[in-house]
Parts: sequence; structure tokens; C-alpha cells
Amino acid sequence: MRRMPVIFVGHGSPMNAVEDNPYTPQWSEAAQSIPRPEAILCVSAHWLTEGSFAATTARPETIHDFWGFPQALYDIAYPAPGSPDTAAAAMRAVKSASVAPDAEWGLDHGAWCVLRAMYPEADIPVCQLSIDMHAEPETHHAVGRELAPLRDEGILILCSGNIVHNLGMLRRAEPPHAWAVEFDEAVREAVERRADEELFDPSVFGKAGKLSVPTSEHYWPLLYALGAAAHGEKPRWFAEGFELSSLSMRSAVFG
Ligand code: ZN
Repeated sequence: MRRMPVIFVGHGSPMNAVEDNPYTPQWSEAAQSIPRPEAILCVSAHWLTEGSFAATTARPETIHDFWGFPQALYDIAYPAPGSPDTAAAAMRAVKSASVAPDAEWGLDHGAWCVLRAMYPEADIPVCQLSIDMHAEPETHHAVGRELAPLRDEGILILCSGNIVHNLGMLRRAEPPHAWAVEFDEAVREAVERRADEELFDPSVFGKAGKLSVPTSEHYWPLLYALGAAAHGEKPRWFAEGFELSSLSMRSAVFG
């Protein structure tokens, strides 16, 4: 079995699931450019927990974890099966954190908005792994590294967040903020050098980093992806650009 790549995707607004945009076709193309996975392990910005959990449900519900959006978004279901086997494999593989089973969590929009474009048939089993809100950046990276062997079992590690994510600074129909472009570019450059440690603390990038990452949950999935990608694996960027001036849609496949 060929080793599966690792994907980091910038998911942006839930509206991408129902509105024309440049990104969903790029997510679809990324899926078509890689081998078909046996299962998907998804680390989404939208499952933030105290401690670490792997979803064990066989039939994950579609979670509409957003408020004030059009009804069309709430009507979407993504009926992919769960993957208790992948959850068990993740729990065995991760040593830097104690990963417990969770029988409740379904698929949040960080997962299904992206998966719906990548695999519209919803026929590949998906398991989500939560992000421990109290863990250090080093730990997120280490957990990613410990998950890497799952790639040899045909499992796609899909990390869904946004490198720049500032909901307080959204603007319609305007160019991206200069600080957003600055930070996005700095991250691109560091990822291409695979200088992973330089990326652990966005605040070292000064004001641009602080404004781009006002809270960490959308940034941390990048650290999982870097951890799961072998050090020599360089990114192939398959999406970039900004939504609403302060969401970076930069996305990469590694391996
Ligand atoms: Zn999000």
C-alpha cells in the first residue's frame, strides 16, 4: 500500500459549502491528485476539547456548528461512515497525549465542508481527532508525528484550519489586510524550509502574527500536518488567497 499524503486545508467560511468560490474546486482537485484513502483522520479547528479524544462513532452526524447562516447550510448532511478502527489506531499511535474514545462527536463543519468537496460520494470512513486546548504547540506537532505511521495504512491525515483567522477583522469586498498577507507569506516561507519549530509560536512574528492568530484553534491544525509530514516532505500549495480580508485559504499537500 502506498503511503498516503498529509493535507492541510484552509477551510474559511461555511458559506463555501453553498456558494461559488475558487477554493472548493481546488479541494476537489487535491483529492483527485492523491491515491484514494482507505479512511480519513481529520483534525479540525472546530473540535477543541479539554484533553484529547478520537471519535469512535460508526455513524457520525453532520454537526452544524455555526449560527445565523442560511437554511441551505443547515440542510446539508454529509453521511460518510465513521471509522472506529482509525480511532483505535490513533489512540494506539499517540504517546504524547492520552487520547480517549468519544462516542458522541460527529463531523463538524471544519471537516464536512471540506470533505464534501473532496469526496462528494461520502463513501470514505472518517474519524475526527480533537485538539486539546491546553496542549503546547510542541505537543500538537508531536501528536502529528506519532500519527504519521497511519499514513502507511492508507489513512489520509486531513488537518483543517486557517493560517490567518481573525473573525473580528472581516471585511467584505476589500483586499486582504497587509498584516494578513505578511504573516501568510512568512508561514509559507517557513513551511517551505520545513522550519517547523519557528512556526510553533505565531507571536514571534510580531504584530502580523498576533493579528493573524488571535486565538490558536485554527492555526494548530497546521502543526499537526507538519508533524505528520516527514521532515523532507515539502508542501505543494493547492489553494491560496484570502476570504473576507482576514481568512487565509492557503492549503498544502505533503508527500
Ligand atoms: Zn473554521
